[in-house]
Amino acid sequence: MATKQFKAESKRLLEMMINSIYTQREIFLRELISNASDAIDKIYYKALTDDSLVFNKEDYYIKLSVNKEGRTLTISDTGIGMTEEDLENNLGVIAKSGSLAFKNENELQDGHNIIGQFGVGFYSAFMVADRVTVISKALGSDTAFEWTSEGAEGYTIQPAVKDSVGTDIILHIKENTEEDSYDEYLEEYRLKAIIKKYSDFIRYPIKMDIMSN
Ligand code: ADP
Ligand code: MG
Repeated sequence: MATKQFKAESKRLLEMMINSIYTQREIFLRELISNASDAIDKIYYKALTDDSLVFNKEDYYIKLSVNKEGRTLTISDTGIGMTEEDLENNLGVIAKSGSLAFKNENELQDGHNIIGQFGVGFYSAFMVADRVTVISKALGSDTAFEWTSEGAEGYTIQPAVKDSVGTDIILHIKENTEEDSYDEYLEEYRLKAIIKKYSDFIRYPIKMDIMSN
């Protein structure tokens, strides 16, 4: 399977994320929960104008699943999902919403000025994960696809199996080093504290599923 390259500016942002300082890392969860919430919003708004689509509140939620032994944290949503093309266009390039677009070159090089303050988006996952897998099934699509990347080298996309519409973002949490601890992102109390700090206003339920081994 061919590995595709990120666009130059995406690669730069990725490198900034990979080398971020520890005090900012926790905001990855804010970014991924906000994307999950946006994806559910999209179904919600679609249902307002599309009679064939019914929005039952209880069907829409965000779920965090932890597998401590496998060192994975998965952020799942029952939102609109992504097609193969969406995965390519949305995750292969730097956020188009442009929180970074108006920042000048110096500010970008001095990365710690902007991480945390602005929406840095999906790539912030690489602050805590050395591999990110996205499995998604778009509304109205029969096939699911899997996007995987280990960072700046690029990404792959392949068909995958997923029953329900929505997206699973699987973070393979980095191993602790002498200076840095990442184990905390596999701890329920820590995840709950981060959600309370940054995502308290999210309109959909955020469920937790912690597996200790
Ligand atoms: P932004 O949210 O500012 O657009 P991100 O980098 O956070 O930028 O996300 C890029 C894009 O990837 C989103 O605009 C969206 O189209 C897509 N995306 C990311 N996460 C999800 C998700 N959980 N479900 C559906 N689409 C998503
Ligand atoms: Mg976002």
